[in-house]
Amino acid sequence: MANIKYSVVVPVFNEEEVVQVSYQRLKKVMDGINDSYELIFINDGSKDKTCGIVKEICGQDKNTKLIDFSRNFGHQIAITAGMDLAEGEAIIVIDADLQDPPEVIPKMIDKWKEGFDVVYGKRTKRKGESFFKKITAAIFYRFLHKMTNVNIPVDVGDFRLIDRKVCEAMKSIHEKNRFVRGLVSWAGFNQGSVEYVREERFAGVTKYPLSKMIKFASDAITGFSYKPLKIATFLGTLISIAGFAYLIWVIYETLFLGGTNPGWASSISINLIFNGITLIILGIIGEYIGRIYDESKDRPLYLIKEKVNFKEKKN
Ligand code: UDP
Ligand code: MG
Repeated sequence: MANIKYSVVVPVFNEEEVVQVSYQRLKKVMDGINDSYELIFINDGSKDKTCGIVKEICGQDKNTKLIDFSRNFGHQIAITAGMDLAEGEAIIVIDADLQDPPEVIPKMIDKWKEGFDVVYGKRTKRKGESFFKKITAAIFYRFLHKMTNVNIPVDVGDFRLIDRKVCEAMKSIHEKNRFVRGLVSWAGFNQGSVEYVREERFAGVTKYPLSKMIKFASDAITGFSYKPLKIATFLGTLISIAGFAYLIWVIYETLFLGGTNPGWASSISINLIFNGITLIILGIIGEYIGRIYDESKDRPLYLIKEKVNFKEKKN
């Protein structure tokens, strides 16, 4: 592991407005720690000038490294690539947009030195984010907590420090649809937290549109829980019982009350409800099958176009 003490992993996707400032703030904090470190930027297929800016920084600062993806593979995969190539004894994952203040890193390091293998940042407040983002996030974390068997802490993002041991554990997991913070929780070890206030995005807009949020949430839930499948069984059973009870009622009505209501409406609506439920359940099953399919194809998680400032002979 050579002699790098800290690796800071920063995924960037169309962050030309922030990447330079982000670098400067990270550098300032890391220089203040007085130990060797590397800053690894993962360019996740940006279409703007992000890559050029990081390359320029790399030219002047050998502690800064770049992993340039062949296209956009997504935030969680970018983090994974950073962990794969990080050499430090402690690895810190942080967003590029300065919503996670770099100044919290020394506190995380202190905790790590106390003997914690995972130190996650717990946000006490989220500034400058839309009501929609906050409410969906709040519901998501609580729902996830209920749905999964792994104890994934509430209101915790990917901003965290992990020990080399945990990083090696992450590298041994080859899941394709990854929910990194869930995997870290799953791994166990000694976990602690540091509280912080989540700042406003320094510049630019969120790179997580609703479509990515949905993918993220469904990876999180299906990756760590079979409960949606059980819900299907539960709903199916409940509805069958209700249907059966209704059938008995109809027979009784015909025999003793003189005929049933000759209505289209009721039968059509029941038909629709049942078909709807069947399709929803098929969809849930499909989500899992899709993921089994992804795993069985066994494609690499990401493809790298170029690496800058990395030593040779590491893949
Ligand atoms: N990001 C990425 N690939 C993506 C989307 C986002 O690498 O496909 C990066 C982005 O550049 C940022 C971090 O992931 O450093 C978090 O994204 P963002 O701040 O847009 O998410 P939010 O804070 O709004 O949830
Ligand atoms: Mg952000």
